[in-house]
Amino acid sequence: MLITNAATSNVATSQKVTNDALVKNNPSIDNPMKNSKNTPHITVAENTPTRPVTTLAEDYGDSGGLAHPFPKSGPDMRHGIALYLEDVSVWFDSFRALNDLSLYIEAGELRCIIGPNGAGKTTLMDVITGKTRPTKGSAFFGQVHNLAKLSTEEIAEAGIGRKFQKPTVFEKFTVLDNLMLAAPKDKRVSKSWFTRIDAEIQDTLDSTLDQIRLKELINKPAGLLSHGQKQWLEIGMLLMQRPKLILLDEPVAGMTDAETEHTAELCLRLKKNHTLIVVEHDMTFIDAISEKVTVLANGAILAEGTLSEVQNNEAVIETYLGR
Ligand code: ADP
Ligand code: MG
Repeated sequence: MLITNAATSNVATSQKVTNDALVKNNPSIDNPMKNSKNTPHITVAENTPTRPVTTLAEDYGDSGGLAHPFPKSGPDMRHGIALYLEDVSVWFDSFRALNDLSLYIEAGELRCIIGPNGAGKTTLMDVITGKTRPTKGSAFFGQVHNLAKLSTEEIAEAGIGRKFQKPTVFEKFTVLDNLMLAAPKDKRVSKSWFTRIDAEIQDTLDSTLDQIRLKELINKPAGLLSHGQKQWLEIGMLLMQRPKLILLDEPVAGMTDAETEHTAELCLRLKKNHTLIVVEHDMTFIDAISEKVTVLANGAILAEGTLSEVQNNEAVIETYLGR
C-alpha cells in the first residue's frame, strides 16, 4: 500500500467534509468528472445507420480476431477495434463541422490527431463522449456501445474518459481529495467508506499515483500545484474511473518544455494499459509520442500515417503546416 494509514484516515475524514461541502455549495455537483449534459444542438437522425454486424470468422478467418489488452468485463473489443466511427457528420445549421468522417482506433493504440483550428477535432471528441450527437453516421465503442444513443454519463461508465483543455480540479481540496472525488460514485459511498478505503479504490489510487507521479504531493491543495501538475492531476482523476479509452484535448497547451516532456512520458506509460486519442498542436510532443497520426481539416481526414509521412504529404503542407 502506498498511502500510509494515517494519510488514509485523514482522507476518509476530509472526504466526508468535501462531499458535504460540495453538495451544500453546489447541489448540481455530485461528481467532478461528470460532464454537464448539454442540450444537443442537433437531433439524431431517425434512420441513423447501424453498424454492420459481422462475426469474428468473417473479419479475421478462424484466427479468433486480434488480441486485446482489456479484461473481459470491459467493452467487447474482440475485433481489435476500440472505436469505430463511420461516415460521421455533424452539422451546426448549415455548417458542417464533421463531414463523412470515418475513423477506426485499435484497442491499445495511441492515436494523435492534428489539424488547423476549426478542423473539427474538439467536435470529434464531443461526438465520442456524447456531448454532441452525430447528424448522421455510426459511432461505436467496442462492439456494442452505440455512442450516438448513449448519454454522456453512460458513455463515461462504458469506459471513455475525457480530459478537457482547461483543468477543472477543485483548487481548495488536496490532490488526494480530488482523486478520491473522481472515483466512481458507487464506490465512494460504499459502507466501508468512513473506516477504510475500499480495496479496489486503493489499488486504483496506488496505480494512478504511480502513473501521474504526484505521490509526494497528495496532501497539497490542488490550487498550489503548477499548471502542469494540475493537468496531470486531472489525468489522474480520469484514471480513477478506470477508463479503457482516454481522450486528451491539447494536453500540453501552456506547459513548459519540461512539463511537456513529462506529459509525453505519461502518455507513453498510459499507453501500456489504455487506448488513447490525443489532440495536440505541439509537434515536438506529437513526435515524442506518436505512432499513427490523423490530420483533420474541414471536418474530414486529410491524411493518416506516421508523423513524417503526414508532414511530407502535399495536401497537409498546403492546408496545415504551410510552406
Ligand atoms: P478544432 O477543435 O479542430 O479547433 P472545433 O471542433 O472546435 O475545431 O470546431 C469545428 C468548427 O465547428 C469550427 O468552425 C467551430 O466554429 C464550429 N463549431 C463548433 N461547435 C459549434 C457549435 N456548437 N455551434 C456552431 N458551430 C460550432
Ligand atoms: Mg479544439
